[in-house]
Amino acid sequence: MATFVCIDDVFLRHRPHGEHPERPERLSSIQRALELSDLRDRVRRIAARPATSEELLRIHTPDYVHDLERRMGPNAATASGWMDPDTYYGPGSYDAALNAAGGAIEVALRVLRGQKDNGFALIRPPGHHASRGRAMGFCLLNNIAIAAAAARQEGARVAIVDIDVHHGNGTEEIFLGDPDLLFISTHQYPFYPGTGAAMVMGAGMASGTTINVPLPQGSGGPEYRLAFARVVLPALRRYAPDLILVSAGFDTHARDPLAGMSLVEDDYAVLIRMMLDVQPRLAMVLEGGYSLEALSQSVMVALQTLVEYTPPAANAPAGSAQNSDHSDESSSRGLLEEARLNVAEVQRIHHL
Ligand SMILES: [Zn+2]
Repeated sequence: MATFVCIDDVFLRHRPHGEHPERPERLSSIQRALELSDLRDRVRRIAARPATSEELLRIHTPDYVHDLERRMGPNAATASGWMDPDTYYGPGSYDAALNAAGGAIEVALRVLRGQKDNGFALIRPPGHHASRGRAMGFCLLNNIAIAAAAARQEGARVAIVDIDVHHGNGTEEIFLGDPDLLFISTHQYPFYPGTGAAMVMGAGMASGTTINVPLPQGSGGPEYRLAFARVVLPALRRYAPDLILVSAGFDTHARDPLAGMSLVEDDYAVLIRMMLDVQPRLAMVLEGGYSLEALSQSVMVALQTLVEYTPPAANAPAGSAQNSDHSDESSSRGLLEEARLNVAEVQRIHHL
């Protein structure tokens, strides 16, 4: 069993023009933490590589891919500007973005081809707000969608679970009409980018393949475990994917400066193990997380969880202790009750 990790200096070359939360230090703090940890020798490092045009065009429109190349590609005169009020680019952004998508593909395909391997693409810029034809919310290319498309090219049945604090509106939009991919998002709601209501569930043949789990501000371990036990895991079991891709944002952390959730490092370990119990072929793709300390520590806990994971014995009863939704340590009874109502609504909509 191996844990594949893609982390590369090329991702440091995407630099803001001034102060910005999505900055190279996010990744260098993870690199530093990894170098200081024994995990350094326990993961299998794989190289990043630029995604090809063919790989990009499975998800993004030709117009958008050309626009990115024109603005920031190797022949751009001055690669510097903004794609939207939040999303900067500079001279190193094109290489970083192409390698982020390529790194996500490489991790996903290694995990898919193994039996019990898992992995983590530690990449930036993030991707889940980017739609087929538009950059948004710090995201240029939708890395996880591009990785999912590459895995599907090999015949895999893919589920994406987005645990970033923000709704993965780009990923949702890309797959909303697609019956052959399950997209599940847990997110603070209402919050940026404004989407993510429970009633949005795909249409026609794709009805039910988008599952939004809006959670109240302040949600922590008990609320997330509830959402996972009652919605995320049953939906994953029902779909039975060959590969789970996780849009791994750590801006749900209690110390994150941009959002209002209250997860801590150990909560991520629990949530990751819950998903691994459904399908050990799990590849995480970094999205948000803006406290350098919380981000790097959470990523180390996530890597340790991946490295040390052992599947439960085949005859173990379903719903092990870690899958239960204990509520005794809830931050507040009212908060858990609110989350319970939201989750019940999602269960009702999706017959879970
Ligand atoms: Zn986010």
